[in-house]
Amino acid sequence: MICEIISVGTELLLGNIINTNAQYLSQKISELGFDVYYHSVVGDNMERLIEQIKLSRSRADIIITTGGLGPTDDDITKSGLCSALGIDLVLHKESLEKINSYFSKTGKEMPDINIRQAYIPSGGKIIENNNGSAPGVIYEDKKNIFILLPGPPGEMKPMFDKNVFPYLKDKSNSIIESKTLKVVGIGESSLQVMLQDLLDNQTNPTIALYAKVGEVHVRVTAKTDKKSEADYIINKMIERIKDILGDNIYGYDDDTLEGTINKLLKKNKKSIAIAESCTGGLVSDRLTNISGASDSYINGIVSYNNEAKIKILRVKEDTINKHGAVSKETAAEMAAGVKDISKTDIGLSITGIAGPDGGTAEKPIGLCYIGLAFKNDVYTYEFYFNGNRIKIKSNASTKALDILRRFLINLP
Ligand code: ATP
Repeated sequence: MICEIISVGTELLLGNIINTNAQYLSQKISELGFDVYYHSVVGDNMERLIEQIKLSRSRADIIITTGGLGPTDDDITKSGLCSALGIDLVLHKESLEKINSYFSKTGKEMPDINIRQAYIPSGGKIIENNNGSAPGVIYEDKKNIFILLPGPPGEMKPMFDKNVFPYLKDKSNSIIESKTLKVVGIGESSLQVMLQDLLDNQTNPTIALYAKVGEVHVRVTAKTDKKSEADYIINKMIERIKDILGDNIYGYDDDTLEGTINKLLKKNKKSIAIAESCTGGLVSDRLTNISGASDSYINGIVSYNNEAKIKILRVKEDTINKHGAVSKETAAEMAAGVKDISKTDIGLSITGIAGPDGGTAEKPIGLCYIGLAFKNDVYTYEFYFNGNRIKIKSNASTKALDILRRFLINLP
């Protein structure tokens, strides 16, 4: 079945609010196995709403609207539907009682204008609203199903989940399942090239790439009539993608890079300390977003200026004078220093030029060195990142975490 979402409200067109309802509904509808072909937004204007309803009903089976069910003059969704279909608005007595009791529960008298909320398209069914005064409506005719939901997400979502989802599930004969692989260390275009064959030949499941900050997600989606069959075809495709991407995949669905690292540190019984310069504590911040991180994350130092690097991390003054604070030599001594003073198994360091000032021809903005000390060895890595200060800091922190992840996977 084909579904279409119409969001009603001038606030949406003015950019005063974000259309989160359409996003929520689309996600839910795809879980049901229906296709969503169009989202539309219409202001509180009767003529345009009627025009939109007529257009939507000509190309979709199910039309869901949100917003415009309130009591004021600009709440026009129900009357717009009635005009578009040539049906009447009729008083629904039970709803009137419900709205009355909704107000009396809060110690208020129902304003007269709220009576409007008890009028529904003739032949429609009420969807109870336990979080607000406006009931929703389901109206079916020979061609379409219309589902009218209130605008506030706190009212719309519970109504949809409790009443509309099961109602639509009864009408659905297919399901859609997805699994997301999370990839770090390769950009979207390189990933596209690596998966080109699979992308070119995709039917069911489909594969979609989503570029995120510092990582790319690969979503595999199957549409079948049985969950077990969907799981089977998704897992088969995931195995093929894993063969191509290998260790570039750090996790699935709700996994995070820092969560994966936390698990790897625990699994390998390794402790870590971090010394950061240009990232200003971002790597530590991300690692400590994971509850229980203190089992393996022992210490984090933001040694931003040279004196701090020398005094706290025991970086040699001579090293900084000779090679500079942004150099592989300094990164190496920072990593070894933080490991030694924190008495951890691993020391990770990062030093770089986040800009916009401080770049030179020899050491341009975006240049970063990452150091990793383990036992008596220290490894250093050089990278160049593009973008503004915030982006460079963010990408540098992701790279440092990814280096740590790969090191833990292939622990010497
Ligand atoms: P009410 O009974 O509260 O008047 P309503 O059904 O008439 O609800 P609207 O008046 O259109 O809904 O919107 C009420 C509020 O709901 C908006 O101010 C906004 O905060 C939120 N809202 C409406 N539409 C959306 C949307 N598409 N996405 C997210 N929030 C929305």
